[in-house]
Amino acid sequence: WSSDVCSSDLSFDEATRRSMARRAHVLSSLQSAVQDEQGRFGVCYQPIRECKTGDFGTLEALLRLRDGDGTPIPPDEFIPLAEETGLIGELTWILLDEVCTFLSGHAALPVKSVSINLSAQQFLDAELIDRLDGVLRAKDVPASKLKIEVTERVIAENLQTARAAMRRLTGLGLAFYLDDFGTGYSNFSSALALPFECIKLDRSLVSPLGESEKSRLLVRSVVEAFHAMGMSLVAEGVETAEQLERLRVIGCECVQGYYFAQPMPVGEFERLLAENTGGRELRRGYPAGIQP
Ligand code: C2E
Ligand code: CA
Ligand code: CA
Repeated sequence: WSSDVCSSDLSFDEATRRSMARRAHVLSSLQSAVQDEQGRFGVCYQPIRECKTGDFGTLEALLRLRDGDGTPIPPDEFIPLAEETGLIGELTWILLDEVCTFLSGHAALPVKSVSINLSAQQFLDAELIDRLDGVLRAKDVPASKLKIEVTERVIAENLQTARAAMRRLTGLGLAFYLDDFGTGYSNFSSALALPFECIKLDRSLVSPLGESEKSRLLVRSVVEAFHAMGMSLVAEGVETAEQLERLRVIGCECVQGYYFAQPMPVGEFERLLAENTGGRELRRGYPAGIQP
C-alpha cells in the first residue's frame, strides 16, 4: 500500500465520522423538537403571488428547525432524516395543527388557502383522512382553505393507495398540487391520472427562462397543455424580473420566489400584506432555513 492510499483512507474515515456525528446531532434536534423543547420547531409561510392582481392570495407552509444553539438546520437536511426515522409523521401533525390554528385565527386576512407538503409516509397513512378531517373540524377551517402538495415520487410509491386517498380527500373538499414538476420525478402521466387542481413548475424549469429561448418554448407548451386539461400553474423559484415577465406572457397564473418574498413568520406576512398595495414588488422575509 502506498502512503497516498493510506491518507485518503484516513480522510474517508474522518468524513464518515463527521457525517455520522452530524446525523446524530440533527436527529437529536428533531427528537427535541417533537417533544416541543425550547420552540426548536417552527413554521414559515412563503407568499405566492397572483400574476393578474398582484395579490399574495395563497401561502406555502414550510417546516423550520433549530438546534440547541439556535442555529437553523436546513430542511433539505432534516426532512430526509425525519422521513427515514419515521419522525416526519409527528412533524407533519404539528405543522398541520399550526397551519389550521393560523387559518382559524386569521380568518380576516385575505388568504384563500395555505398549502402543506406531505411525504409518502403521511400520504399513505391509513389515519391521514380521519386526522385531517378531525383537525379541520376542531379548528373550524373550511377544507377549501387547505391544499396538499405532493411530488410524483410520493404518488409513485403506491399509485393505487394514493389514488384512493386523493379521491376521499377531494370528497372532503381538499385539493392537490403536483409539486416539483420538471425535476425528473414528475411527468404528464401522473398529472393526467390523478385529480390535481394545480401544477407547481420546479425552479429548474423557471431559472433558465431569462436566457434560453428553448426553455421558453418548453415552459409555454407545458403551461398550454395543463391549461387545456383544466389545471392552473404556480411557477416556483422566481428570482428575476425577466423570469417574471416571461411567465406573465406565457400565462402562468401564480408565481412564488425570492423576487417577491422568502418564507417568513406570520407577523412579517401581515406587514407584507399591508405594504403590498398597488402590486408593489417587495423582497422581504427570512432566508430559507431561518426560523421565525
Ligand atoms: P419545496 O416543497 O419545493 O419548497 C420550496 C422550496 O424552495 C423552499 O425551500 C423555499 O424556501 C425555496 N424557494 C422558494 N423560492 C425560491 C427562490 O426564488 N429561489 C430559491 N433558490 N429557492 C426558493 P425550503 O424551505 O428550504 O424547503 C426545502 C424542501 O423541504 C421543500 O421543497 C420540501 O420538499 C421540504 N419541506 C419543507 N417543509 C416541509 C414539510 O412541512 N413537510 C415535508 N414533507 N417536506 C417539507
Ligand atoms: Ca412544496
Ligand atoms: Ca417545489
